[in-house]
Amino acid sequence: MPATHGGAVKNWTGTTIQQQALTVGCRYCHALVGEVCMDKAHSKPLEAFPAHEVRIRDARKGSDE
Ligand SMILES: [Zn+2]
Repeated sequence: MPATHGGAVKNWTGTTIQQQALTVGCRYCHALVGEVCMDKAHSKPLEAFPAHEVRIRDARKGSDE
């Protein structure tokens, strides 16, 4: 049965895609390694995505080498 928490916000904490993204810094919002991306418009951690797209791409690129 589905468990709803009364909110549409997805919690990305601990997901594989976020863990991978955190291994590199973010060129978009300048989050450091190990820090989550910030939503610059709202001055809070990014919620809609595990990390900015460019950061996810950078992290994947790094893991290939
Ligand atoms: Zn970012």
